[in-house]
Amino acid sequence: MRLIKPRRRSRPARVRRGLRSSLGWLLALAAVLVPLYFVFRVKLTATPEVALKAGTELLGGKKVLAIVGHPDDLEWYVGGTLRRLSSAGADVQVVVATRGEKGPNRTRVADLPGTRVREQLAAAKINGYARVRFLGLPDRASAKDPRFLPDVQTVYNEVRPDAVLIFDPELPSLPYLHVDHQGAARVTLAFWRTLGAGRPPVYLFQSRRPDVAVDISGVIATKERALAQHVTQNGGSGAGMRGLFGGRAVGVSYAEYFRVLR
Ligand SMILES: [Zn+2]
Repeated sequence: MRLIKPRRRSRPARVRRGLRSSLGWLLALAAVLVPLYFVFRVKLTATPEVALKAGTELLGGKKVLAIVGHPDDLEWYVGGTLRRLSSAGADVQVVVATRGEKGPNRTRVADLPGTRVREQLAAAKINGYARVRFLGLPDRASAKDPRFLPDVQTVYNEVRPDAVLIFDPELPSLPYLHVDHQGAARVTLAFWRTLGAGRPPVYLFQSRRPDVAVDISGVIATKERALAQHVTQNGGSGAGMRGLFGGRAVGVSYAEYFRVLR
């Protein structure tokens, strides 16, 4: 009896099938990523002139309070603005909710939270912060910790700032979101909304709809040096930051952007 060998698909047919399947995956991926791109892309909602003018107004602050989740957040996102503020004579007060014990430990130090506190203090010296308050709340759980809101209220009432800087919890931009960033900012923003007339403007950073731009071209090297103090996080280099703070949208070399609420 003659065995009939099953017909093998020709190689070109299998290749075509593979290509069709890859194309299907690519289309599916694009169907997810393209809308995400349009939702999350950063779009300046003011003209460059208006945004830079609002940035100059922010730089006129006399007492500024910035609240973040971890050591290194300030230097990453608003280090240039804070440096410019302290150079202009502002009283820059900052709150760091956690000691960042769940962050990377690239240099394998024995005491990560203690080391991160020291790194933050070294960066604070470079950037001229008048005071750093560590709330010591648990990393990745600061926002839901019942101590967070009363601590923020106490600090706010002590400092009485004329500008508040926090992450944008409502319209954050990519690439990096964290519960201690947007979560803590959400609690702080809800508190700010309870303040009555005369409350200071709140400047939201890492926002995808900024309308304020601070030209940090003149302090970019200092911002990089302050960020580099967080050796456990970046191995002692802040160079990767520059690419995320280009100022082309407002016609300068480097800028930090905010969405202001009044
Ligand atoms: Zn962080």
